[in-house]
Amino acid sequence: MKESMFWQKLEDDKVECLLCPHRCKISPGKLGVCGVRENRKGKLNTLIYGLATSVTPDPIEKKPLFHFHPGTYVLSFGTVGCNLKCIHCQNYSISQAKIEGMRMKNLKKEDIVTIAQRYKCEGIAWTYNEPTIWYEFTYDASKIAKEKGLYTCYVTNGFIEKEPLEKISPYLDAMNIDVKSFHNDFYKKTCKGKLQPVLDTCELAKELGIFIELTYLIIPGLNDSESEIANYCKWIAESLGENTPIHFSRFHPDYKMQDTIATPMSTLTRAHEIAKEAGIKYVYLGNVPHGDYENTYCPECGELLIERIGFSTRAHYVKNGKCPKCELATPLIQ
Ligand code: SF4
Repeated sequence: MKESMFWQKLEDDKVECLLCPHRCKISPGKLGVCGVRENRKGKLNTLIYGLATSVTPDPIEKKPLFHFHPGTYVLSFGTVGCNLKCIHCQNYSISQAKIEGMRMKNLKKEDIVTIAQRYKCEGIAWTYNEPTIWYEFTYDASKIAKEKGLYTCYVTNGFIEKEPLEKISPYLDAMNIDVKSFHNDFYKKTCKGKLQPVLDTCELAKELGIFIELTYLIIPGLNDSESEIANYCKWIAESLGENTPIHFSRFHPDYKMQDTIATPMSTLTRAHEIAKEAGIKYVYLGNVPHGDYENTYCPECGELLIERIGFSTRAHYVKNGKCPKCELATPLIQ
């Protein structure tokens, strides 16, 4: 247990957590919505500092991050809890679990680098469940990882307040941010969250110089209308730039949404077309059979730039950050 970094005292020993836009007001002995921050005697503590449910080397493409150190392995860490309550969560066994009864490794912040080196990983990813609710440990360990020359990334729902994001930004190289819908109603009903703070996080991350890619899981009947996807893509092009790599991902029945069908391929390819029509240059489809939709092509001349199979980069043809044929600069961090 460790004191939280972002909180303030209220009357009667209550506290307000300032880490995410829920801004939970917590009475003594109670937990916040994420289930991992507790008011203990008038002080807000994190209960998961250094506690990991999973530690695994993954290809960076699995996050997914396609334009960030392609072809490298990243040591991926997850813990328990989440500040959203998505009824379709694909990692609900850890994100919606309680701390009690979970088997977790107790890590020291310095361990992160040693384990990464042991597995020949070039970076660290905070992923699997929501990393921002693990803020204090990800902050301390990312700082050490950066000092030792590793890259760092968050795979996140983007539901974080401005100040904590600004504070960690010198130690955070990349984020894959889930935008779950472009309607606030969806966030309210399906995730118990809000849309605008997530969009603000995307814009702030970009402003802070954190490399970002976005993922949108298309769920039949809930967030798959052409107008919603078109508005989402328009916002990306205007607010984040046409070079922002984006991923549309296929839903499969999970958790409390067992009765909804998997996303038809035709919906995914239509979303791909809509994004291209909006001017977005690098658009990918995830959780689909392998094929062209996971490769990177030059948006100018159509040359194959990066060939991928599943979660790995098979061939990489970008030369000095440019297309080898027409020399268009490719947004790529290597
Ligand atoms: S991080 Fe947890 S305790 Fe803090 S505001 Fe968000 S949900 Fe509430």
